[in-house]
Amino acid sequence: MPNIINEIKLDFKDVLLRPKRSTIRSRNDVNLYKKITFRNSKKIYHGVPVMASNMDTVGTFNMARALSKNGLFTCIHKYYSVDEWKQFAKENPECLKNVAVSAGMSADDFKRLSDILEVVPDVSFICLDVANGYSQHFVEFVSTVRTTFPSHTIIAGNVVTGEMVEELILSGADIIKVGIGPGSVCTTRMKTGVGYPQLSAVIECADAAHGLEGHIISDGGCTCPGDVAKAFGAGADFVMAGGMFAGHDECDGEVIEKDGKKFKLFYGMSSSTAMEKHAGGVAEYRASEGKTVQVPYKGEVRNTVLDILGGLRSACTYTGSLKLIELPRRSTFVRCTQQLNNIYI
Ligand code: 5GP
Repeated sequence: MPNIINEIKLDFKDVLLRPKRSTIRSRNDVNLYKKITFRNSKKIYHGVPVMASNMDTVGTFNMARALSKNGLFTCIHKYYSVDEWKQFAKENPECLKNVAVSAGMSADDFKRLSDILEVVPDVSFICLDVANGYSQHFVEFVSTVRTTFPSHTIIAGNVVTGEMVEELILSGADIIKVGIGPGSVCTTRMKTGVGYPQLSAVIECADAAHGLEGHIISDGGCTCPGDVAKAFGAGADFVMAGGMFAGHDECDGEVIEKDGKKFKLFYGMSSSTAMEKHAGGVAEYRASEGKTVQVPYKGEVRNTVLDILGGLRSACTYTGSLKLIELPRRSTFVRCTQQLNNIYI
């Protein structure tokens, strides 16, 4: 018989962070850098744990160069060649601590991953990304990558439930990517009916991961800096975004001019646009689960970064968190029926 979970699960838009008495004088006093020691790789990370997604428009070398200047992280998409990686590593050694090499589950991906890590030994993050992290095959793949790269930090996903977070951590992953269906250009929920409200997924998955000394990324669904603050407040160790970083100079693709306005193309990694570009068309056995949109051109990503970091500092100030790492302990969410006043939108 089908089960129904009657407890309400929430998205970012359903809650607000409650302010708390605080002794912080200015938001400039807030420290957004986090130091994290990973469970399996034993490596230590120090940075501002906001990430650009490994989507081919956003997870670019140009993005990594720009984000790294403010301590942010980029999961580089999997379509750069070994030679392109070699050149990037040679020219930007200071960025390497803030990037991950991405791979899917195919034999070709694994070969490429191994080749890249051989030529860029200073990159210590691997991002293993599949649409559905629930397959036994993926769990075995994570174990194989752990055995092959014992001291690399492995990011694996995507999942949305505690039991699968635990299984992937016990199979060798350090950081679990959490999110099925919340993405701005994702159509999984519409095509399949599958998903999980993102704020609740983050709260539950963070609890499962932290119990094992693992970590999580809240991946997808952030529409504004406030959502990034809520994701950290819910317990995410890192927050990943695609759409918020789209449309900038550092993104791949040309600026499109239409009726005097400028746009850039942004699309899901399983949209027909991405599949035509990288796989020669949509495979017949699967539905396209991503949208293609034209987002307004936003210029340099630096302005967006400062906007996100400013919002985060302010959220920390309102909740009395001198460091970003204190935010979850000081977060109380209030359920709301309306989070924004939209009268002038
Ligand atoms: P955003 O920050 O734009 O809301 O979400 C970005 C995330 O959406 C990505 O990091 C990735 O997990 C997910 N995503 C990217 N492309 C697709 C797609 O084509 N289909 C689905 N289901 N998810 C996608």
